[in-house]
Amino acid sequence: MTAKILDGKALSAAMKGEIAAEVDEFKSRHGIVPAIAVVRAGDDPASVSYANQIQKAFQAAGMAFALHLLPATASQAKIQSLVRKLSRDRSVHGIMVQEPLPKGIDEEAVKAQIAAAKDVDGVTAVSMGLLAGGTGEFFAPATPAGGMEILKRSGVELKGKRAVVIGRSNIVGKPMALLMLHQHATVTICHSRTVNLPTVAREADILVAAIGRAKMVGADYVKPGAVVVDFGVNFVDGKMVGDVDFDVVKEIAGAITPVPGGTGPMTNIMLMKNVIAAARRQVA
Ligand code: NDP
Repeated sequence: MTAKILDGKALSAAMKGEIAAEVDEFKSRHGIVPAIAVVRAGDDPASVSYANQIQKAFQAAGMAFALHLLPATASQAKIQSLVRKLSRDRSVHGIMVQEPLPKGIDEEAVKAQIAAAKDVDGVTAVSMGLLAGGTGEFFAPATPAGGMEILKRSGVELKGKRAVVIGRSNIVGKPMALLMLHQHATVTICHSRTVNLPTVAREADILVAAIGRAKMVGADYVKPGAVVVDFGVNFVDGKMVGDVDFDVVKEIAGAITPVPGGTGPMTNIMLMKNVIAAARRQVA
C-alpha cells in the first residue's frame, strides 16, 4: 500500500486565497489592516530567514508586517520594554518574539510581556493555560495548528482514535497533543525517556513526530494504515528531511505529510489566520 500524501504545500496555496479574501473583507468593513510585529534581538540566521518568510507571506496577503530589530547586546529591560510598548500599541494586532534571544536573556520573562490578546503564536503562560483548559478564546501555536488544519481538511476523524505524539515541547508536541485531545482522540505523549517507543508508536491511528531527529521514525513505529504527521525539519547532506523515514513509512501508512511540503508551509498560514482573528477580537 502506498500512503495518500497529505499535501500541505497545495493546501497552503489554496488557503492563501481564502486569507487574502478575508483580509480584504476585514479592511473594507473596519478600515484597518491586520498587523503583526516581529521582535528580534540579534541576527540568528534561522530567525532572519523565518522573519523574511513571514514578511513575504503577510505582504502577499495584504497584511502589515513590521520587524522590530534590537542588537544582540540589548538588555533584558530594553527587550521587555519594546514588547510592552507593542502590547499597548493599538495598530499592532499580533506579536511574535523570535527565539533564540541572545544568551543571558530570560525568554520566559520577555514572553510574559506579550498581551494575551496579541499572543498569535500561543507562547505565553495565559495562552498555554487556555489551550490546556480548552476554554475561552486562545491562540494555539501556529505549527501544531497547521498540522490540525491538514488533518481537518483531509477528513481525518480524530474522535475515539488512538493518537501518539513523539515530542513534548511547548511549541509543537504538547500543544498538538492537547489539540487532538480536544477533538476527542485518546492521546499518548512520548519523549526521550519513553520505554519501548516503537511499540507505543505502533498503537497509533494517528502518529505525530515532533522530535528533531532525521528519519528516526521507521517501519517499526508505524501501524499499517496509520496517519503520520511529520513536523521534523532536519538537514542531511544539505537536503531537508523530516523525523519520519518517508520512503519506507509511505509504504505502510494510510496517509502521510511529506517533508518538505507537509506541515512546514502551513505554519505561516496559521500565523496569518491567528493575526486576523486577533484583529477581529480587538475591533469587536
Ligand atoms: P525540541 O527539541 O524542543 O523537542 C524535541 C522533543 O523530542 C523533546 O520532547 C524530546 O524529548 C523528544 N526527543 C528527542 N530525541 C528523542 C528520541 N530519541 N526519542 C524520543 N523522543 C525524543 O523540538 P521542537 O518541538 O521545537 O521541534 C521538533 C521538530 O519540529 C524539529 O525538527 C523542528 O525543527 C521542527 N519544527 C518544525 C516547525 C514547522 O514549521 N514545521 C516549527 C517548529 C519546529 P525530551 O523532552 O525528553 O527531551
